[in-house]
Amino acid sequence: MADTATLYIDGQWVPAASGATRTIVCPADGTEAAVVSEASREDTERAIAAARAAFDSGVWSSVPAPERGAFLLKVAARLRERKDEFAKAESADTGKRFVESQIDMDDIAACFEFFGRLAGQQAGRIVDAGDNSVLSRIVYEPVGVCGMITPWNYPLLQAAWKLAPAIAAGCSFVLKPSELTPSTSILMMDVFAELGLPDGVANLVSGTGPDAGAPLSEHPDVDLVSFTGGLATGKIIAAAAAGTVKKVALELGGKNPNVIFADADFDAAVDNALNAAFVHSGQVCSAGARLVVHEDIAEKFVDELVRRAEQIRIGGPYDDAAETGPLISAAHRDKVHAYVQAGIAEGARVRTGGRFATDEDGEGLGSGIYYLPTVIDNVLRGMSVVVEEAFGPTVTVETFADEDEAVAIANDTVYGLAGAVWSQDAGLAQRVAGRLRHGTIWINDFHPYLPQAEWGGFGQSGVGRELGPMGLSEYQEAKHVYQNTAPAVTGWFADHSAK
Ligand code: NAD
Repeated sequence: MADTATLYIDGQWVPAASGATRTIVCPADGTEAAVVSEASREDTERAIAAARAAFDSGVWSSVPAPERGAFLLKVAARLRERKDEFAKAESADTGKRFVESQIDMDDIAACFEFFGRLAGQQAGRIVDAGDNSVLSRIVYEPVGVCGMITPWNYPLLQAAWKLAPAIAAGCSFVLKPSELTPSTSILMMDVFAELGLPDGVANLVSGTGPDAGAPLSEHPDVDLVSFTGGLATGKIIAAAAAGTVKKVALELGGKNPNVIFADADFDAAVDNALNAAFVHSGQVCSAGARLVVHEDIAEKFVDELVRRAEQIRIGGPYDDAAETGPLISAAHRDKVHAYVQAGIAEGARVRTGGRFATDEDGEGLGSGIYYLPTVIDNVLRGMSVVVEEAFGPTVTVETFADEDEAVAIANDTVYGLAGAVWSQDAGLAQRVAGRLRHGTIWINDFHPYLPQAEWGGFGQSGVGRELGPMGLSEYQEAKHVYQNTAPAVTGWFADHSAK
């Protein structure tokens, strides 16, 4: 693969038709991470044509599902062998700590393994038609050509949640990773090619959303567009997809409440509140960016959270002391800062953080894109800082007096991706979990997810589910095959000419 021929179309590594390239810059220190081909609409249309031809030929869709599953298990094994190479590329693009990228690669392998095992198990079902002469069955078939559009925060992980079920189902696809972080998606195509996925089944175009990405939601030859990213982009994609009534799967943002009752295990709740807000510098769709804490413990809890937040060590991928890393870009850091500033203008108080990190905060931080962990209190429901997703290392504090108020605050968002409840009263915790309108609820924990458990959003956090059996269903169409084994004249319409 030549360095600047990184689009993968119809089994070939090709440069962009325009010859354009993009330099990927590591936000940890401004070094060059990679130079990749920059696709435009023309390249994406070529990739869609290749995916369409491959799908229509049956070259993958007609392979028995257990064999497709076996392929995914081989992908997982190869990924485990090449784990450090992949993790290095992920850290170079995103600036995240190398150990976190290694964890991501393990999670990605586990995702391929899950769908590899599931592939042969969702063939369909027999339906009792209530008539012994009728054979009725539901067959789950691949949905067809899939467009996949992914974000920069967990670049290959978010892609894997789409790639693995699509391959299991027998689909063909075009993946458009974030233009900021394409490297591991490119490596993934190398694995598919190496393991013999037929040409045209897997295609990759990297480039900007409006140019390289848009055809995936607009083109009539794409049957499903699966998108992970921000709410505003999700709305554009859903609207564009309506033009051809294609299927749409959306994994969007969140403004996720972390609800702490007074009887919670204090140390565990504080520790996890730090993880919830500041892991990966808050660039996590399910980040616990809204701390909702009982008024009896709020002061003590927030004082401790601030004290601990001030100790968090920031640094680059290979800084062994670092506990979290940079933001993805200067533009994104400016957005996070503007959000904090808007909160201050509305009356919120920054308890700690609220500014860019400099060399005085840690050696070398001034040459990367870093932002200090930020705790914001004095907020009111409805303030922009409480309502909007910052997608950075910020957490706001709201307080409540009783269970009803806790639930009302936690549900007061257009989003509905995830939330947590902390209490040692199992009944209370389960009751609140039942009342929260979010796709994932943690009780006395924050952030874990399982490949075998569905992930997705209520409300404007999205449409559909990834992972779990429903994550495979997204890539399947249900067909009802009804056979009458004893055909007979119905007599519904009389033969009026008969005598
Ligand atoms: P983004 O919406 O800016 O971009 C996501 C992807 O969409 C990128 O590949 C981008 O190039 C592409 N895109 C942009 N405009 C497009 C268009 N008009 N047509 C087609 N494609 C287009 O999001 P981001 O900044 O990369 O990622 C952060 C967002 O992703 C956050 O809101 C976060 O919550 C969300 N996210 C959600 C989940 C989840 O599971 N729900 C997971 C990870 C990230």
